[in-house]
Amino acid sequence: MKLSTLASRAAFAVTLAIGAGLFAVEPVQAAAPMQHKQVPGFYRMMMGDFEVTALFDGGISIDSSLLSGDPALIQSLLLRSFFDDPQKVSGSVTGYLINTGSKLILIDTGTGGHWGGPSLGKLTDNLKAAGYKPAQIDLVLLTHMHADHIGGIYDAKGQRVFSKAQISMMKTESDFWLSKDIAEKAPEGAKIFFQIAQAAAAPYLAAGKWKPLQGMDEIVSGITPVAIPGHTPGHVGYRVSSKGQSLLIWGDVAHVVSVQMPHPEVGIAFDADGPTAIKTREDLFVKLAEGKTLVGGAHMPFPGFGRLRKEDTGYSWVPVTFMNLN
Ligand SMILES: [Zn+2]
Repeated sequence: MKLSTLASRAAFAVTLAIGAGLFAVEPVQAAAPMQHKQVPGFYRMMMGDFEVTALFDGGISIDSSLLSGDPALIQSLLLRSFFDDPQKVSGSVTGYLINTGSKLILIDTGTGGHWGGPSLGKLTDNLKAAGYKPAQIDLVLLTHMHADHIGGIYDAKGQRVFSKAQISMMKTESDFWLSKDIAEKAPEGAKIFFQIAQAAAAPYLAAGKWKPLQGMDEIVSGITPVAIPGHTPGHVGYRVSSKGQSLLIWGDVAHVVSVQMPHPEVGIAFDADGPTAIKTREDLFVKLAEGKTLVGGAHMPFPGFGRLRKEDTGYSWVPVTFMNLN
C-alpha cells in the first residue's frame, strides 16, 4: 500500500472518531485534594517464630555540629549523602515490638511527645495501626533512659501508657537517671533528660511495675541484654533469637548513618562517655560485619533493619528490602 493511501485512511479514521464523539473534550474537573498523610509508620518481619514490628515514633533533624570529628570530613560525608543543610540531617526514632507468640515485648518507646517537637511522639498511634493495644504489652525493655526511648511510657497526665507492662532496663541506668543528687548537679541543658526519666518512672514505681535488671541473663525466652557501653551509664542492646535466627536491637550505637558508618570514630554529643562509646562502636562494627548480623537501630533510617558491610574505608549500611510476609 502506498504511504499516501495510508495517510488518507488514517485521516479518515480520525474524522470518524471525532464524529463519534470519541475525542470529545470533557469539562475541566477540579483537581483531587491532596491528602497530606503518610502511610502508617510500622514495618513487620518474621524472625524464626517471632513477629518483629518496627514502630516509627517520628522523624528528627540532627544538627551535625553535635558530631565530634574533623568538620571538613563530616561536611563532605553529609554532602555525599545529599544533606546540604548541615543543621538538619534527617534521622528516625523507632521502637521495636516483639511478639514471641506468648509475650508481647516493646523495646524502646519513642518520645511520647515529651521531647523533640511535634514530629515525634507517634509510636503509640503506630502500635495501634499495627494491630495492637498499649494494654496488651507485657514487658517494656529500654536500651537506655534518654527521652527518645523512655518518653513513650507515660502520657501528658503523668499516667502509665502501658497499664499491664513491667518496665525494665539495666539497674545502673535506672540508678543514674533516678538519682536526685546526680540530677541536681547535671548541667542545665541535661536537666530535661532527668526530669523526663523521673516523670516516666514515677507511675510505674508507684504501681510496683518498675523492675531494673540486675545482670545479663536471658530476660524471657529468646531475649537477652547485650552490653554496649558508652552512650549512657547502663546502655545495652537486646539480642532477639528464635529458631537459629537473630536480631540485635542496638539502641544508640549510631545516630548519623552517612557519617558514622564510614567513620565509626566520629562521636556525638549525646554520648555520656565519648571515648568508650567510640571504642564500643568500632569493636561492635567489626563483629557485626563479620557475623552479617541483622540489626534494628533506633536511629537508623526507618524501619532501621539492616546489616553492616565492610568497605575500604569503614562500613556501609545495607538496609533490609521491603518484603511481603507471605
Ligand atoms: Zn536515642
